[in-house]
Amino acid sequence: MVEFGLRGPAPRSGALLLLSGALTACLVLCLHLTRSSGGAQGERVGPRRLGPVDDLADARALLAAWPEDKPRACILILARNSDLDGVLRSVKQLERRFNAQPSAQYPYCYLNDEPFSNEFRAVAAAATVAPAFFGLVPAAHWSYPPHINTTLAAELRSAARRRMPYGGSESYRFMCRYFSGFFFDHPLLEGFEWYWRVEPEVHFMCDLPGISHDPFRHMQANNQSLAWTIVMEEVPSTIPSLWPTMQRWLAANPHHVVAGNMLPAILEDSDAAQIGDEAAAVDDRGDAAGYDSRHALPLLRPQRQLYSSPRFKFTGCHFWSNFEVGRLAFFRSAGYRSFFQHLDSDTGFFYERWGDAPVHTLAAAALLTPEQVYFARDIGYKHGSWSYCPSQPADRPRCDCHPAWDAVPLAQPRCQLDFQTRLHALQRAEE
Ligand code: GDP
Ligand code: MN
Repeated sequence: MVEFGLRGPAPRSGALLLLSGALTACLVLCLHLTRSSGGAQGERVGPRRLGPVDDLADARALLAAWPEDKPRACILILARNSDLDGVLRSVKQLERRFNAQPSAQYPYCYLNDEPFSNEFRAVAAAATVAPAFFGLVPAAHWSYPPHINTTLAAELRSAARRRMPYGGSESYRFMCRYFSGFFFDHPLLEGFEWYWRVEPEVHFMCDLPGISHDPFRHMQANNQSLAWTIVMEEVPSTIPSLWPTMQRWLAANPHHVVAGNMLPAILEDSDAAQIGDEAAAVDDRGDAAGYDSRHALPLLRPQRQLYSSPRFKFTGCHFWSNFEVGRLAFFRSAGYRSFFQHLDSDTGFFYERWGDAPVHTLAAAALLTPEQVYFARDIGYKHGSWSYCPSQPADRPRCDCHPAWDAVPLAQPRCQLDFQTRLHALQRAEE
């Protein structure tokens, strides 16, 4: 049983312990009988089921009464029952900074490859003023495709155990494959158009008051499909064959690749001296104050047929997907599905350790234009030792982070800064 005291100061007396135990029991019982919502869309829609069943009816009822002008969005959290404490830490901050205000109050969609415990449901639901729905990931979406040799996969995991983060983990690979190819088809998300992915143990350092800081509204108004805060470099040994596999897809599917795509922003040329087109005009660097533009990678504008050339490599810079706001229609599109199916018919999710973050980024690079992605520069965000803190003086009062040391993850200038520089250069080239 998780105690509420875990997050705050430990209870100091037996009486306090008893009180917290009684409160917990009462809460679980109450939530068993009523749905948790007290939010803007908080009308009762029937008793909350507690059991290994998706809360589909509750989600559908909420969507049926959804306000016309409000993005159909949910906050998406994939978690294990054992992640409850970390989930609470993330959710309480997100609620306080953003979601508790009446203009937000987006519901939470929790997904798990195992049934959520009654305790997880009750405690997670009680942490928000918005409704919380719980769903089970179908077993077929958390597993191997038939062509994978599971004995070989296990041998390769053993060999990779010490060579890369999560190298030895089977469940991490299922998770990455799930976020690459299946989450957007979960029945609980049907009817939603947007999601904000949140993980356990993340931090939101800035208040996001009013609709002007609502990423869903911003993206809906600007016809955007994917938002990020941090651009990170992938560990090369996790994805040696990802880009060559994508090159084969590009060559076979030119009709899916959009005109004005972002591929030039994620490529580097192993023979840059000849074809590299230096992103000369790097004067507009947005938040990259103090950044030395001599570090900028050349911006490539290869002809379409050159995408399949071995001279072009993926830089490895990708949107760090533990923060991600997305339009579900992007992932549900024929182009994205074709791309994922191509990757999944290869072996890299299991024989290597392809992450969902580079997969999403590569898909966005081919299927979206620079105008369709959104750097959520007003959202201070931290996960592990990586953080992004808004750097404009006007941001200071609403943020609890210090831009001088947090504005730019300086250990990662190549990705966080070059990517923005390249996107800007690409946008200007299109103008
Ligand atoms: P990291 O951020 O790359 O270190 O990976 P995490 O351990 O944070 O996992 C990424 C996300 O997937 C988090 O939301 C986790 O809660 C979730 N996750 C990872 N592995 C599993 C799993 O085996 N089962 C479930 N249900 N969720 C998982
Ligand atoms: Mn994480």
